[in-house]
Amino acid sequence: MASAKPNIKVLRYRDLLREMRQRGQPGYRAQQVYQWLYQKAVLDFAEMSNLPKTLRQELAEAYEIGTLRVLQRAVSRDGTVKFLLQLPDGHRIESVLIPEGKRRTVCVSSQVGCAMGCAFCATARLGSTRNLEAWEIVEQVLVAQRHLWEVGDPRPVTNVVFMGMGEPLLNLPAVLQAIRILNSDHGPNIGARKITVSTVGVVQGIYELAGAPVQLKLALSLHTAIQEKREQIIPLARKVGLKDLKRALFTFYLQKRRWVTLEYIHLPGFNDTEEDIRALQRFLGDMPAKINVIPYNPFPGGPFRAPTEEEFQDFIRRLRRLPYTVTPRAPRGRDILGACGQLALHQVRLESVKPVVYTPDSPPA
Ligand code: SF4
Repeated sequence: MASAKPNIKVLRYRDLLREMRQRGQPGYRAQQVYQWLYQKAVLDFAEMSNLPKTLRQELAEAYEIGTLRVLQRAVSRDGTVKFLLQLPDGHRIESVLIPEGKRRTVCVSSQVGCAMGCAFCATARLGSTRNLEAWEIVEQVLVAQRHLWEVGDPRPVTNVVFMGMGEPLLNLPAVLQAIRILNSDHGPNIGARKITVSTVGVVQGIYELAGAPVQLKLALSLHTAIQEKREQIIPLARKVGLKDLKRALFTFYLQKRRWVTLEYIHLPGFNDTEEDIRALQRFLGDMPAKINVIPYNPFPGGPFRAPTEEEFQDFIRRLRRLPYTVTPRAPRGRDILGACGQLALHQVRLESVKPVVYTPDSPPA
């Protein structure tokens, strides 16, 4: 049941500053509260030990510290952790923690479900319910950080990618506000260049992002450079042609001086022909580009199959004839329904079936 008290995390830093002044406190108290909330990720005002006891009590009477309920935490054999999280209004989202070397990357959701309807995506089956608020996006990173501390990993979350449920550029104000918090010195302090926003091609959003005063990275889910094929798998492509997309990418480059990464899911037999490779070269031209190629991660009832290792390696070999950086990406967390939206879909469809969940205390054999 929703609490009657407001959530302190909906306050922006300047609101918190005003709040402290109204309570007769010096301005640095706002900084301290902010650090406790976003750097130390505490869930109880009593833990804010450098605040006067009376202030802690006042804050506890006036506010609650909002968080997301962890319904399920599935740990893959490859170390990937998938969280099924419940929002205060009962909706469910997913986020994924990917430990890799020194990096701790969190893949966050920006919406509950997604309205874009991409054929290869499990989240699309959920439809769209609502945009997430900025604090609900940030909290996914804090949930992952608390998990790392809990399992004895002292490293901070280093990277954030907006590649979970939802199209982030359709929720841009909250996404930008979340990025400001994640990037803040008093918050998790994640470098803007370590934050990637991934879009399926919301051109207006790309222009807005290009003009935003933050040096983040942009990834475009391209998946094919043949217009007709793109329209088959991404409904938005029926409104946004490849030319418009390229113009927007180029504008982003001119503003940020950062090339866009292209995400290309390998759908065997659909987007891996010689014609597809030629179309990719025509689309990119002399634009230096980084292409991440990801083997498709199928979900029950989905229309595509995963490539075999041989098919995938052959496709990578052929793509590498092009003058771009081609990076094969290993699929993560396949044993825990790794594709985004799968866990929530699984819960929605198979409510009565208990999925296999590995916990840090009982790792898979
Ligand atoms: S791929 Fe992204 S934009 Fe497309 S349906 Fe899935 S979450 Fe939405």
